[in-house]
Amino acid sequence: MENLAAFHTLHQVDLAFFVNTAVADQRLTPTKTAPHNFSGGPGALPQPVLEETQRAIMQVPGQPFGLLGISHRSTWFRDVVDEAEANIRELLQLSDRYSVLFLQGGGSLQFSMVPITLLRHSPQAAEYLETGYWSHRAIVEARREGPVHVLWNGRAAGFRSLPAPSELHHNPEAAYFHYVSNETVEGLQFHHSPGHENVLRVCDMSSDFLSRPFDASPFALIYAHAQKNLGPAGVTVVIVREDILERVPDNLPAMLDYREHACMGSIYNTAPVFAIYVTMLVTRWLRDSVGGLEEMEAINRAKAAELYQAIDASQGFYRGHAAPEARSLMNVVFSLLSPKLEQRFLAQAESAGLYGLAGHRSLGGIRASLYNAVTPAAVHALCGFMEFFRLRYQDSDEA
Ligand SMILES: *Cc1c(COP(=O)(O)O)cnc(C)c1O
Repeated sequence: MENLAAFHTLHQVDLAFFVNTAVADQRLTPTKTAPHNFSGGPGALPQPVLEETQRAIMQVPGQPFGLLGISHRSTWFRDVVDEAEANIRELLQLSDRYSVLFLQGGGSLQFSMVPITLLRHSPQAAEYLETGYWSHRAIVEARREGPVHVLWNGRAAGFRSLPAPSELHHNPEAAYFHYVSNETVEGLQFHHSPGHENVLRVCDMSSDFLSRPFDASPFALIYAHAQKNLGPAGVTVVIVREDILERVPDNLPAMLDYREHACMGSIYNTAPVFAIYVTMLVTRWLRDSVGGLEEMEAINRAKAAELYQAIDASQGFYRGHAAPEARSLMNVVFSLLSPKLEQRFLAQAESAGLYGLAGHRSLGGIRASLYNAVTPAAVHALCGFMEFFRLRYQDSDEA
């Protein structure tokens, strides 16, 4: 991508910003401007994908029917699943040692399937990081299956930071090690991959999967539901290494057995045809229109940089939640001086065409989710609104 370098500096050079934003937006969304969707999940999807999905609902090219009435046993759907898998393999340069599965039950079912597979019959505890709302939910489910050792807990400090590698003292005998790469609620993201070379590494990447390149080879299992960054609700991508399949206990219900799904090519029972189709289109868009994960990361970095810059330059009017080194490129979480002012911010943002900015119900405040399909122009519009709002209220009695 010829504008790669320019994207890195978008936030510093105003003129370059406008030029390059126009280029980026042509590629990301050819037609749509406001309203802008900053929802935490289900999140924004690329405009070309939505348009193609709309046509496919009425009639899939080459098929007599629309998307919602096609058999999951058709060769057409087999090809859809195969392409989704091939695109993910290509984007991640994934080795053949991994299976790529498309399952139902969301991230939440993986909170259970992982410990059912790896902890239920293990004499050793599993190691978890408690870095925010979603990793806590994973721990609660894992504890039903066996002992959990929380290796690091950010709760007392209000889930504002992430551990440095030197703070994690792994037991090389642990059943496995689980962490969440991007805490969607608090807006914390790992910018390295924690873990120990002798401990099976498991990661919930639900809210940043395919937002940037990463090396899958240290992982035993990765899961990511589609509905934050990848597609609609209803499907969860699981990338599982072959040796993990060999550890699945016998006599599990088939639906909870990764081997059944791997053996049936993700069509063990009626698969979520719609969700997998849209997810396939998104992976095709990432490959062909965006140009790959390095390009996607450059765009995501530029978007997040502009928004964090707006927060940092606001002289405390906007207060970022995360410690700077743990800031997420996907979910930017901040607060204002009072809940009343936040309510006013949210209402006026909607009037300006900026939607989905309310923080998670467990935390309050503001959360702008900048998933892959959120355009640089959307972020620029948000930053413009924030500046306008700050100038209006920073010295006002109404605040
Ligand atoms: C939203 C979220 C989940 C929950 O997934 P469901 O599909 O709703 O079960 C799990 N993990 C992370 C990181 C999330 O952001």
